[in-house]
Amino acid sequence: MKAAVTDQNRSVEISERERPIPGGGQLLISVDASGICGSDLRMVDLSVAGNVLGHEFTGTVVELGSGVNEFAVGDRVCSVPFHTCQQCVYCLSGDPAGCSEAKFVGGHRDGKRVPGSFAEMTVVDAVSSLRVPDSVTRDQAALVEPLSVALKVVERARFQSGDKLLLLGAGPIGLAVLLWARTNGVGRILVSDPVASRRELALRLGASRVVDPTSRDVGEFFAESFGAAPEVVIDCVGRAGMFDQALKLAANDGRVVIAGMHMGNDEFYMREPFLKNLTISFCALYTKAHYEHTLQMLASGQLDPTPMITHRIGLDELPDTLAALRAPNEFGKVLVLST
Ligand SMILES: [Zn+2]
Ligand SMILES: [Zn+2]
Repeated sequence: MKAAVTDQNRSVEISERERPIPGGGQLLISVDASGICGSDLRMVDLSVAGNVLGHEFTGTVVELGSGVNEFAVGDRVCSVPFHTCQQCVYCLSGDPAGCSEAKFVGGHRDGKRVPGSFAEMTVVDAVSSLRVPDSVTRDQAALVEPLSVALKVVERARFQSGDKLLLLGAGPIGLAVLLWARTNGVGRILVSDPVASRRELALRLGASRVVDPTSRDVGEFFAESFGAAPEVVIDCVGRAGMFDQALKLAANDGRVVIAGMHMGNDEFYMREPFLKNLTISFCALYTKAHYEHTLQMLASGQLDPTPMITHRIGLDELPDTLAALRAPNEFGKVLVLST
């Protein structure tokens, strides 16, 4: 099968790989579509050479590992992207990320590669997989992973009626947070992003207002727009300095949710969150329940992330696209269609 394999040059090359074999409790799926995540760019740098990235995917079951009864060949699935022990309390309760043996699909652990979805086929755990309802499109199903990230972020924000939201960053996770905030009834949302096309996309997806943080003071613009500071600030940028900014922008007694990550130390001015009595939370990953709820909302038509997708590419175009994504760019979500 064809796969995009990490090389020594912080990129991937398309090469032939053995078709993977599903182990006990696993499914072999042919990948229908798989999204490029910001973390894939970091992982291309950090990953051991010879790995296959990709963890935001939907596929069709082509082979069952031993002991799998709840799926059949031909089922369309989405999977929480971890290979696990499949039997501990975390695995059985739908929280594969909590399993002490959890290995991230499209990542690596203890030097061992776990091939992901930038390939024609990949292997997933049945216990972490869900059937995709017929009314959910391929493209929607490919977005279940980032939507689940964002669903948990919005849960953490604990919105109350009348809350105003400042959303920093309109990349795919920011836009997915925007969608969930809208379905939760948040009426006044300002989205801040320096890229014009992303601000436009945010307006299409329901932002009340947008601002370019390189040309306006975001706090001032928020107060002008909605009359007071935001009760909730969510950072989906994940760059050094954003944490401090989010703390400064939140209202007294506000909530700050950090949904973006970087790999360094970060400083903040202590007085700010302390005297404002801020509640701060960090939010990573998801459980199977987040996948389940997301699929239900897609199936019922209450959530449609399709406008987030700006590019659909073939596996062969992945190396060039990863390079283009490293520079400032106008990409929204990019889907890789493996076959
Ligand atoms: Zn991701
Ligand atoms: Zn486990």
